[in-house]
Amino acid sequence: MTDTLGPLNLYAITRDQLRAQLVQWGLNPIHAGRLWNYLYIELASSLDAMVELPPKLRARLSDEAFLGVLDTSIETDSSDGFTRKYLLRLADNERIETVLMRYTGRVTACVSSQVGCAMGCVFCATGQMGYTRHLTAGEIVAQAVHVARALKHAATMADAPTPRHATRLRNVVLMGMGEPLHNYDAVMHAIDILRDDAGLALGAERITLSTVGVVPGILRLAQERRPLNLAVSLHAATQAERAALVPVAKKWPLDELMAACRTYSEVTGRRIFYEWTLIEGKNDTPAHARAVGALLRGLNAQVNLIPLNPTAGYLGTPSQNTAARAFQHVLADEFKLASTVRQRRGIDIAAGCGQLAVVERLAP
Ligand code: SAH
Ligand code: SF4
Repeated sequence: MTDTLGPLNLYAITRDQLRAQLVQWGLNPIHAGRLWNYLYIELASSLDAMVELPPKLRARLSDEAFLGVLDTSIETDSSDGFTRKYLLRLADNERIETVLMRYTGRVTACVSSQVGCAMGCVFCATGQMGYTRHLTAGEIVAQAVHVARALKHAATMADAPTPRHATRLRNVVLMGMGEPLHNYDAVMHAIDILRDDAGLALGAERITLSTVGVVPGILRLAQERRPLNLAVSLHAATQAERAALVPVAKKWPLDELMAACRTYSEVTGRRIFYEWTLIEGKNDTPAHARAVGALLRGLNAQVNLIPLNPTAGYLGTPSQNTAARAFQHVLADEFKLASTVRQRRGIDIAAGCGQLAVVERLAP
């Protein structure tokens, strides 16, 4: 494992791979359990902290492996105290965003899958940055560990445990920077590590992947019956309107996307969450609601409405609350379609996707 990939990031391998690595090093694989515990239960922040491992294993680790902990470049809290946003530094000095959210009594980490994004959605701060590179599985896992460790530290502080300050990471959403299905293999490998029930134990219902609509990726998820929640960013119900907001709709047109979603739901029996960024006057009228209602008729669907977070590169404005409520009423009354309006919590700390990285670039 180490000879082809260089030093081994311990966050990049599953427990089975860790056992195999120990065997390859001529060590007893029984020590994998203790090491795994250091990684995902104790959330150790350095190899030096792993004092109970046998000296031979510690020597191997320090020679041939590393713990890919991500340093915090900036950390900000929203004024309502429900959201904390981290700008994390990667080994090559690139920055990514990870957000800790504490809504509805559940603790969720929103993690990134790429540095930047190649999909170019016009209203998205990450899209406006363009694509730099994929994240490795280890860099994706390290973000969840970062949040889990921050929760653990907060819980040990004297003023911490109010109900708002749950101590355990409960959910991960792949909704930070980047398009997860454009980095399929690394993302799925990271999910396998996050799910391990002797580690972070984030099972099928606890991981949600949001895609802009990468059709081959959705079909592959269905074929592989990946245990996760799927969210598809729709934003418009006609091909022309969608292509104006989401340029990759030209590559994967709306009819192909909806066919893939239908296949996914049929094969997996799972509901898909359809995301809809509400932009005043563009896609938030009752007529737009009727169009999406008709598009999703007969599908196992829920609609998540997200009022636009304004970004420097796009002139649109967020919809009024009244428009969002009217949209929901049309979906519910005329189409029996469930929907939620996601609170714009954290907007004062630029917690929209990609926005903190932009703020930092703009800072002197
Ligand atoms: N690339 C994936 C996941 C990351 S974006 C995707 O596009 O689905 C997560 C969600 O935030 C998507 O639904 C995206 O459309 C939405 N989003 C991006 N920028 C936004 C903004 N400025 N305001 C509101 N929602 C935004
Ligand atoms: Fe990429 Fe998603 Fe932003 Fe579109 S919305 S540019 S797919 S991160």
